Amino acid sequence: MASIARKLRRDTKTVGFVPTMGALHEGHLALIKEARKMCDVVIVSIFVNPAQFGADEDFEKYPRDLTADACLLTEYEVDYIFAPETPEIYGEGFSTYVYVEGLTETLEGASRPGHFRGVATVVTILFNTIRPDFAFFGRKDAQQVALIKRLTRDLGFETEIVVIPIVREESGLAMSSRNAYLTPEQRKKASVMYEALREAKIAFKNGERNASKLAEIVRQKVESEPIARIDYVALVNGASLEPVERIDDSEVLVAIAVRFGNIRLIDNIILNRGQ
Ligand code: AMP
Repeated sequence: MASIARKLRRDTKTVGFVPTMGALHEGHLALIKEARKMCDVVIVSIFVNPAQFGADEDFEKYPRDLTADACLLTEYEVDYIFAPETPEIYGEGFSTYVYVEGLTETLEGASRPGHFRGVATVVTILFNTIRPDFAFFGRKDAQQVALIKRLTRDLGFETEIVVIPIVREESGLAMSSRNAYLTPEQRKKASVMYEALREAKIAFKNGERNASKLAEIVRQKVESEPIARIDYVALVNGASLEPVERIDDSEVLVAIAVRFGNIRLIDNIILNRGQ
């Protein structure tokens, strides 16, 4: 991959990179379509990164089907699929990790210790290997976007980060590879997450600026669904991820994580984006 990328750079091709863990769905495809529009060459990585899974998480059973993913990608004019084996990324004696301070201790970082260290490390390795001009990430993982932007700046990568809006199912449920774990009943009920976020947005549009009140609206709606168990509901500054009390001029992220049975899902909306 590194030598292909080097050649592409020599040929002055614009390289777009879409990192994924496979089990591709419309959310990933939205990133790939944008990459296709913007770049000469599109590289998609498929790597279920062991370093970003906790010991009690779903690394072993995470859905993997490289053949199906590759088939799907034939329709999207992807130039390269980079699907490394784990030892290619983490060689013997691997011991260098990237830790983005300040943005990774809260929200997903609090619930999933070590997760973002794994994300930051693998993204650094992939960026170093490919050195893309543009890299595409989904807003669905809003905290990940914040840390990738910081990491890119801090480590001096010459890669522009492009962020793509959340792609949803018709019910409003954010698309996710983990949705495949849900039973049909859980899947139906999981749409309460987006309904709750929408209610907060409506309240915001009607003038509510108090973050606790908006969080309470989200909580109540999610809790109206008995099988939903809230992990967190948070209103934070969209860039610094620091908690906010009142919503003023800056963008505020309303981020939630909710469990349905053993399945933990995340979703978010942004308030104050030209509303
Ligand atoms: P993953 O395979 O889950 O690591 O996701 C790979 C990329 O796809 C990440 O940048 C995600 O944020 C993005 N992504 C996943 N689901 C969605 C979605 N529903 N809408 C937009 N982007 C998504």
